[in-house]
Amino acid sequence: TKAKQPKPEWIKIKMTNNENYQEIKSMMRSKTLHTVCEEARCPNIYECWANRTATFMILGDICTRACRFCAVNTGMPTELDLQEPERVAEAAEQMGLNHCVITSVARDDLKDGGATIFAETIRAMRRRLPLCSVEVLIPDFMGDIESLKIVMDAKPDILNHNIETVERMSDRVRARAKYPRSMELLRNSKTLQPNIPTKSSIMLGVGEEWDEILQAMDDLRAVDCDILTLGQYLQPSPKHLNVAKYYTPEEFAILKEEGLKRGFSHVESGPLVRSSYHAHEQVKSASKS
Ligand code: SF4
Ligand code: SF4
Repeated sequence: TKAKQPKPEWIKIKMTNNENYQEIKSMMRSKTLHTVCEEARCPNIYECWANRTATFMILGDICTRACRFCAVNTGMPTELDLQEPERVAEAAEQMGLNHCVITSVARDDLKDGGATIFAETIRAMRRRLPLCSVEVLIPDFMGDIESLKIVMDAKPDILNHNIETVERMSDRVRARAKYPRSMELLRNSKTLQPNIPTKSSIMLGVGEEWDEILQAMDDLRAVDCDILTLGQYLQPSPKHLNVAKYYTPEEFAILKEEGLKRGFSHVESGPLVRSSYHAHEQVKSASKS
């Protein structure tokens, strides 16, 4: 194992506390819901919650997979909660969200991978908050196109599926997933619903080379992916994969340009960028294109 790299000064949490944030935080305490914002200790939580954007994790908080960068617990998942879609929508309504990201652990134990609960959550959101945009960040459903179709039929505003890393690092970083399978999922989403923008994300700093990042961008464009987010990988605990490199803000800026040159309609690129960061702005830019 490599020596630990010191954290550079640009990886700093922006501590701007405000009323919106406090209000939302106390609401989350009173519900039995999980937000990625809290559980992944996302550095953008103050900014996002103040802007009325949040990411809910549905289908429980125990994953059937164990990716080496991820802080979510692995094990036997909890029983399906059929009331969850309604509770998420209710919380989103009370929070007054204008952009809501719905994601989940990988539920390889379920026949549809949890797709039906995703679709029900989108529908519950539409009923309660017709003006709130809904982005789903979905697992790969083991490549099952029927499951994907269940989600696409509910017409999310954005279909997000993360490739997480470049092709060569994929097996190491997310052993149970497959780079080509993720690309295929993005392609199939477009085939099923050509007007729904697709989105993917790469976290940088797990050992990839610069050229491999550009190749991954080309691969994403080849399956017509519209939106790209690039962020710095941060090690959630000493048991997780080491950080191989901290990219500078300048490097993130260059990569953003590379992405835009390739035709992505929107690229968020920066050390603290996470998949759902500034997601609301991406809806706007995607619908313009
Ligand atoms: Fe939550 Fe995503 Fe914002 Fe992080 S970037 S605080 S996970 S909505
Ligand atoms: Fe984490 Fe998703 Fe991998 Fe599960 S599948 S371990 S939630 S990244």
